[in-house]
Amino acid sequence: MVDYIGVERIQALMSRVGVARLLAGLAGEIEADFLRWGEFEKSARHAIHSQVGVIELMPTSDGHLYSFKYVNGHPKNTAEGLLTVTAFGVLADVATGYPLLLSEMTYATALRTAATSALAARALARPSCRTMALIGNGAQSEFQAIAFHAMLGIRELRLYDTDARATDKLVRNLAGQRLSGLRLVRCESAAAAARGADIVTTVTADKRNAVILAPESVEPGMHLNALGGDCPGKTELHAGILRRADARVFVEFEPQARIEGEIQQLEPAFPVTELSVVLAGGAPGRTSAADVTIFDSVGFALEDFSTLRFLHRLNREQGGLRREIDLVPDLADPKDLFSSRPAVADRARA
Ligand code: NAD
Repeated sequence: MVDYIGVERIQALMSRVGVARLLAGLAGEIEADFLRWGEFEKSARHAIHSQVGVIELMPTSDGHLYSFKYVNGHPKNTAEGLLTVTAFGVLADVATGYPLLLSEMTYATALRTAATSALAARALARPSCRTMALIGNGAQSEFQAIAFHAMLGIRELRLYDTDARATDKLVRNLAGQRLSGLRLVRCESAAAAARGADIVTTVTADKRNAVILAPESVEPGMHLNALGGDCPGKTELHAGILRRADARVFVEFEPQARIEGEIQQLEPAFPVTELSVVLAGGAPGRTSAADVTIFDSVGFALEDFSTLRFLHRLNREQGGLRREIDLVPDLADPKDLFSSRPAVADRARA
């Protein structure tokens, strides 16, 4: 039998453990794996594009465990009452090839993306940061808000979305989270949201080279957490921001970021630093308080690996309504797919 985490179960885990605590735990798990970067088999993810979206597969392994995630990105979906991003994933045992866990990963992706964003900001942003612009107030946004409140001490969020109802929803949901001392400021444009912010998170969905943030909106010392540019032809930052003399660009896995990230707009030799190198102390994050640090995030398989392993353990520790599914046959004779193992009750009677 294979452990199964469905939507109901992950919602139960989130409310039982608390989203902020889950995010902090996950960030620790992801950081520990980034610190053993060399042990992972890594590749840019496999993407199949259509006119309206993308479906991607994201595998990795550390030689002991293996994981993959299936994820889609369809910015037009919300107009049809569907999510932009949905996902599920598998954690497996390398020694036998047997799956250990099948999990929903729509929530898990929102959690791991926010945990990774906060982890990167902790290493790259100025420690005194208290104000963040949150541009794009859709499905990912609550998780970003909670992570930056809990892990970086953000106390003012400046919100903007082209869809005012998305911002209404974010304000409502954050009120329900009772985040102490957090002030929410609704802004009339992305530029107004960014004005005076220490950190700017862009998490919009649009299948084009958009300019969510223009060069004149970026101030010395800012940290940019750019999440929505994650596919060829789908970016958020004006290239002039990346080319600023005082800008330093950080990515998760360089070969994948070159294809999918904001840096797809630049020449292949444009210098970037992988986050794992900074976390391991092999390169500085910012070199001065005035640097503009840019986390050009596209989401990497290792973050999903850490998340699946974390959820596998948490799901077992938490007890409650834990489910298993018969994803793999349990046979009396493993060479005989026509055989079947008697049910446990029958075996006990025999
Ligand atoms: P979503 O569709 O739920 O929300 C996106 C929001 O962006 C919507 O509310 C939309 O109105 C808003 N928006 C679109 N254009 C805008 C603009 N010009 N200015 C301001 N707001 C604008 O999508 P989501 O699930 O929240 O995902 C957001 C983005 O993050 C997607 O592009 C997705 O691919 C990306 N993503 C990245 C990672 C990563 O690891 N880097 C992980 C998950 C999702």
